[in-house]
Amino acid sequence: MNRIEHIGIAVKNLDDSNKLYAKLLGKTHYKIEEVLSEGVRTSFFELGENKVELLEAMNNESPISKFIEKKGEGIHHIAFAVDDIVSEMTRLKNEGFKLLNEVPKKGADNKLIAFVHPKSANGVLVELCQEIE
Ligand code: ZN
Repeated sequence: MNRIEHIGIAVKNLDDSNKLYAKLLGKTHYKIEEVLSEGVRTSFFELGENKVELLEAMNNESPISKFIEKKGEGIHHIAFAVDDIVSEMTRLKNEGFKLLNEVPKKGADNKLIAFVHPKSANGVLVELCQEIE
């Protein structure tokens, strides 16, 4: 893995949180994107080579709405940039990690993504992401 690509934060209200994080970070988000497959609306803030992703549930089936129900708002996942997501998934499987996806899927911000189960990573939901060329 190359670096932390972004930190994902679950929020109840994206518009309110965009304002809050604009104040906190001293800059505004550069995009808002809906990921229908995940039932989330996301926004992204750029900080050097890293990003902050805010995630709001679009419906009750969304993993974000379940997360907030259980744990409240807060850090939801850490995403690592990889060059080759398929070979990284194979490597992690061989190391005994449990993956939440069999194959990479299309995520927000022009990325192929896959998740590692938090139970195999000390309670942290880990996202792998590869930029789509
Ligand atoms: Zn993410």
